Amino acid sequence: AKVSMFDSESKIKITFEDVAGLDEAKEEVEEVVDFLRQPNKYTELGGKIPKGVLLVGPPGTGKTLLAKAVAGEAGVPFFSLSGSDFVEMFVGVGAARVRDLFKQAKEKAPCIIFIDEIDAIGRSRGGGKQPGSNDERENTLNSLLVEMDGFSTDAGVIILGATNRPDVLDSALMRPGRFDRQISIDKPDIKGREAIFKVHLEPLKVAAEIDAKRLAAQTPGFAGAEIANVCNEAALIAARENKKEIEMVDFESAIDRVIGGLEKKNKIISPEE
Ligand code: ATP
Repeated sequence: AKVSMFDSESKIKITFEDVAGLDEAKEEVEEVVDFLRQPNKYTELGGKIPKGVLLVGPPGTGKTLLAKAVAGEAGVPFFSLSGSDFVEMFVGVGAARVRDLFKQAKEKAPCIIFIDEIDAIGRSRGGGKQPGSNDERENTLNSLLVEMDGFSTDAGVIILGATNRPDVLDSALMRPGRFDRQISIDKPDIKGREAIFKVHLEPLKVAAEIDAKRLAAQTPGFAGAEIANVCNEAALIAARENKKEIEMVDFESAIDRVIGGLEKKNKIISPEE
């Protein structure tokens, strides 16, 4: 999920069809799509449309993809920023950026604001480990809270936040009127992996022997991002050997390579634990 600091994409072409598996999560965000499409249906009965929905789940499981699909299905602009971009920011810049983002979004409503890695800004206040950088992060978080409180529920702006660390989030973020809904996005089971393989095999030229079910069985623990990676690596491996079609051996090499990459990543991460 690489989203640059302040992306605004008006014509999102991603739809629910691009998001494989995640049936429950899709059903839940379907409601958000309807809020954006026909807000009056809800407000006329006096209902308050939620402002913030938190997508919670491990890396690479499709949170960004799902958020984009909500915008795509509703046909609304998608504004995004990533919490990690704020970590090294100069004083005042983070808060100003949040204000700017909300200002733009309100002008383009109905729309989606997506905040990836919201835990990087939304860590519980006071208990921070990094002195210095902490104040600025708090400023950014405070400005996010102020902005969320500052527009009415019928403004047509819905904020989707993504995190894999809901446990560290400041409880103020989860109060009613802020991110008061959570949707969990889990790693796919074998059926989910099969569905994700089908999506990512679709554009590839594969040999007749290639079977999504078998690939799913060979990739336990893989998230969608890793499956997408396997499919692309397999294509590159086959191409390097001047093949006309991607064969099972290419997928097997690609799976090994992706597992190798994951192991390396884990080795770098583990000393901190
Ligand atoms: P992060 O927590 O690292 O930000 P994320 O949960 O936002 O990750 P995405 O960025 O949405 O994950 O996923 C990365 C890529 O993996 C997607 O662009 C897509 O190609 C693929 N992918 C992930 N999940 C799915 C899925 N359920 N169906 C189809 N493709 C998927």
